[in-house]
Amino acid sequence: MENIKDKVVVITGASSGIGEATALLLARNGAKVILAARRADRLKQLTQRIQTEGGQADYLVTDVKMRSDLVKLVDFATIRFGHMDVLVNNAGIAHLSRIDQNEVEDWEEMIDINLKGVLYGIAAAMPVFKIQGGGHIVNIISTSGIKIVPLQGVYAGTKNAVRTITEALRQESKGKYRITGISPGFVNTELADHMKEPAVQAATREMAAKIAISPDAIAGAVLYAVSQPDNVDVGDIVVRPTVQD
Ligand code: NDP
Repeated sequence: MENIKDKVVVITGASSGIGEATALLLARNGAKVILAARRADRLKQLTQRIQTEGGQADYLVTDVKMRSDLVKLVDFATIRFGHMDVLVNNAGIAHLSRIDQNEVEDWEEMIDINLKGVLYGIAAAMPVFKIQGGGHIVNIISTSGIKIVPLQGVYAGTKNAVRTITEALRQESKGKYRITGISPGFVNTELADHMKEPAVQAATREMAAKIAISPDAIAGAVLYAVSQPDNVDVGDIVVRPTVQD
């Protein structure tokens, strides 16, 4: 794990779930982490927890819908810790519904956060990576886009757009940047808490209670990708419950 020590890692959606677990695990392995999300209280608590454990962390309240927030976040990381090695684009929401329900505002929110938020992150990181001569983008995608099922069409669409962009960026990088896409299956997080449709939320929670895995499993995949030597690019990782079909 020597390639993780002192790496500066910015994590969006770090106030709960996969982002929180990733921040803790990377900090415990010597990374300097910058935590980003909208809930300041949660970010502050997690920052203090990491610092109490002897790790290095700071946070910035960030809304990934706002392009300027991502620019401020990258600036904050480079000023706070001198440079930025890794951006984990993890912030996301899942408003699941049938397409013919026409929940257009929900579609827009998912596109704004899950897709445009990731693009804004990449756009903010690239100028820094160009100056540094390298850097690593880790995008948290989903198995939703691998197995297409009803109710998840637009959510999966945003995730598969990120999958496509991830692969294009990898091909374009010509060895300059490392790009990783991690697709979790059912994970035990707060994702369902923010779903709008009560029946879908209940069904998701019921399924999660039966099969969901810990966010630590996804954090472990991020750690694996980030801690590889510079000439090793981990492309796609799928981490799902063993029983998920
Ligand atoms: P959580 O709801 O626990 O975490 C989502 C995180 O995203 C929170 O920290 C939230 O913070 C943040 N977030 C949401 N909207 C914004 C915004 N506009 N700006 C900044 N941050 C935002 O769920 P997960 O940990 O499960 O989700 C993390 C990622 O994993 C998502 O991209 C999700 O799609 C993906 N995923 C999850 C799976 C699962 O089964 N849980 C399966 C496959 C993929 P705050 O509200 O404080 O802003």
